[in-house]
Amino acid sequence: MKNIYIIGVGLIGGSLAIDIKKKHPEMVIHGISRKEATLDEALALGLIDRKATLDDLIHADLVIISIPVDATVKLLPTILDKIPDTGLVVDAGSTKEAICKAVENHPKRRNFLAMHPIAGTEHSGPSAAIGGLFEGKTNIVCEVEKTTFKLQEKALELFTGIGMRIRYMNPVAHDKHIAYVSHLSHISSFMLGKTVIEKEKNERDIFDMAGSGFASTVRLAKSSPEMWTPIFKQNKENVIETLEEYIDNLTQFKELMKADDFDAIFNEMKDTNYIKEILKGIK
Ligand code: NAP
Repeated sequence: MKNIYIIGVGLIGGSLAIDIKKKHPEMVIHGISRKEATLDEALALGLIDRKATLDDLIHADLVIISIPVDATVKLLPTILDKIPDTGLVVDAGSTKEAICKAVENHPKRRNFLAMHPIAGTEHSGPSAAIGGLFEGKTNIVCEVEKTTFKLQEKALELFTGIGMRIRYMNPVAHDKHIAYVSHLSHISSFMLGKTVIEKEKNERDIFDMAGSGFASTVRLAKSSPEMWTPIFKQNKENVIETLEEYIDNLTQFKELMKADDFDAIFNEMKDTNYIKEILKGIK
């Protein structure tokens, strides 16, 4: 593989560009984006070697799509139309069912591999890109059997080469499980941030009293609404289900407080400490 085209050179696309270039200096990284200024920034930061447009995709060995998931659903069929028969397209979208469905009958479906690299930060755009983001992280691959074997192999070699472990899942299961471990955490963080901002109008007080616990719990509330709104829209049913369960737990906690049942509250927290075991080894 020589010519890599990255569509969306923000946090994920830019970070992939850094790691791929480090491992394969001979590869040429071309960037494609909506706004010229974003491409100029990516070029100035050294994330990409060249600026490109969708019409250049005929020269692509690999296309990585790292734009919001609604834009991916719209653009993916056109991208597949434009690549050569030997080209591979992968996406990094945080939802998988709608994206896989968008190309289920595309004549070049076998040139597409659906992925979700489980790595990120709350920052966005080219300046958020960092090296080593994917080291030791999981890359979830969906519907692998629908991709030509040779192209699967190329993709897996590239992504394991930058330190990722591969896990296979079907898109429906992916969207169901990711709603709990990622989408609900973001809503919880956004709404915690909202609750505190609304109540504590004086920013100085928040700044003075907030400890690192608050800062780490609301970290995800800094995330981009442009990226997250389409995720919640595409995964609406699963997200609502997780929210109902979460709200039930909050309500139950409140009821225990009202009833002065602090033994039960102690036990709730003690049982939940089990999360330490589950998360052992996660950076
Ligand atoms: P990001 O930093 O905001 O970057 C996305 C880039 O896409 C922006 O730089 C934007 O550039 C470009 N873009 C937006 N709409 C576009 C369009 N219609 N056509 C072409 N370019 C467009 O977002 P990100 O965090 O890298 O997320 C990218 C993808 O990775 C999303 O699908 C997300 O679900 C997925 N993902 C994110 C994370 C995470 O933690 N952030 C983790 C795993 C997967 P312009 O300035 O040119 O608009």
